[in-house]
Amino acid sequence: TYAVEFQHLSRTFDKVRAVDNVSLQIEEGEFFSMLGPSGSGKTTCLRLIAGFEQPSAGSVRIFGQEAAGLPPYRRDVNTVFQDYALFPHMSVADNVAYGLMVQGVDKRERQRQAQAMLELVKLGDYGDRRPAALSGGQRQRVALARALIKKPRVLLLDEPLGALDLKLREQMQIELKSLQRQLGITFIYVTHDQGEALSMSDRVAVFNRGGIEQVATPRVLYTQPATAFVADFVGTSNVFDRAAALTLCGCDIPFSIRPERIRIGQDSPRDDELGLTGELIDIQYLGATSRFEVRAGNGKILSVVNPNQDDLDVGQAIGATVRLSWPKRAMH
Ligand code: ADP
Ligand code: MG
Repeated sequence: TYAVEFQHLSRTFDKVRAVDNVSLQIEEGEFFSMLGPSGSGKTTCLRLIAGFEQPSAGSVRIFGQEAAGLPPYRRDVNTVFQDYALFPHMSVADNVAYGLMVQGVDKRERQRQAQAMLELVKLGDYGDRRPAALSGGQRQRVALARALIKKPRVLLLDEPLGALDLKLREQMQIELKSLQRQLGITFIYVTHDQGEALSMSDRVAVFNRGGIEQVATPRVLYTQPATAFVADFVGTSNVFDRAAALTLCGCDIPFSIRPERIRIGQDSPRDDELGLTGELIDIQYLGATSRFEVRAGNGKILSVVNPNQDDLDVGQAIGATVRLSWPKRAMH
């Protein structure tokens, strides 16, 4: 059985199809992400799993059981929200133990489990503080410990790192992933950040307008995007429509090509390559790599990322004419 399964699931609000006929299986123990732009239906999917929202059509199954009619507290899932929702007047330890208190677990046992959870999220020494005395990242960890203390078999996370700055977010990504591995519970993680989804997930579902464009491992999503939307949304990609493909490089089908697969220089494409000539309009030095913006004949702007080599000065000046080449097998 699957941890969570959607069968032709839909949820409409008035005329908005927030979730539109989605079928999906999430394996037990998986780190599964729902990735998509704002308004694509991700939060509604989580709320349907949690039981805060009811389907307009289709069904949600949790560990093989039809969830219709099951109230949220009867579902073996728990949710971590972006805004933490901690109680400001309670200590950190009491916040974490709250779910156990509601269940009537006795005080000593509550304290013991809350301390264990705080140690798990590396806040073992912070139990006596109030949430206001913690940083954003620490508060996020308290919210996580609070959601985990009831040992849900599925943890739902809705953009949980959205309020953190980049560095902290990256650190928390690593910690969340290792926590999930350690606990072996199913994480369903909602984000609009493709880097986040790619770095943590076993599999990712890409959402667009209430539907799913592709479900795949991060590697397959990146190297074999199924649709132009996925190619464009996951990572950056140079997308050539039919007209651009034909006029710029004599290719009679539309395709996409990743910036790092394009070589910039002065040499012509080899036999197994395709290419074009353009004007270099911008260079961004990024340390290990540089990003080049090139304007092709029809005005189309292409993005190219190449490694920087100490011994080699790129030697390209803005305004220079450059040749771009890429392997045909790198085209999607
Ligand atoms: P996401 O989490 O991907 O940003 P949501 O699931 O929140 O997307 O929303 C999907 C669509 O459904 C949006 O157009 C949103 O405005 C609409 N929607 C979500 N919840 C409600 C609601 N309670 N009432 C009306 N429209 C809603
Ligand atoms: Mg949302």
